Amino acid sequence: MKAYRLYGDHDGRLVDVPVPSPKAGEVLVKVAATGVCGSDVHSLENAGRYGYPLPHTLGHETTGWVETLGDGVSGFEPGQPVALYSLLSCGKCGNCARGYANLCRTGFAAPLGGAVDGGMAEYVVAPAATSCRWAISTRWSRPRSPTRERRVTTP
Ligand SMILES: [Zn+2]
Ligand SMILES: [Zn+2]
Repeated sequence: MKAYRLYGDHDGRLVDVPVPSPKAGEVLVKVAATGVCGSDVHSLENAGRYGYPLPHTLGHETTGWVETLGDGVSGFEPGQPVALYSLLSCGKCGNCARGYANLCRTGFAAPLGGAVDGGMAEYVVAPAATSCRWAISTRWSRPRSPTRERRVTTP
């Protein structure tokens, strides 16, 4: 598959890489679209800025469709539209449970597209429990809760 990967300062490349396989608890998502964030630009200007290993596939603002499920994943099915929440966190601590994954008590909540390969690719793997959300659809209405539904956007 094609992926846009960061190799160094001012060194982003569109390259061919294998389609990733979801491990237990993960979902493989066929990417529909990925936004370009200011932090992606910062990474391109200074690849070591955030301290993530190189190279990696950029992109943490991603939507797509579930392709395959890793072992133990339930609640999703192939073809289902999803939006990926960009921060990887424990999903279990008090702050995560309240919707504040950016304040995960296990430490820094790492992003897709930095700590792990992100969505500027044809496919991306994401943790089902903490990163996959139903995509906003025409059936979507304003959330009653200010936390869960709005977490599909980057803080
Ligand atoms: Zn962003
Ligand atoms: Zn947590």
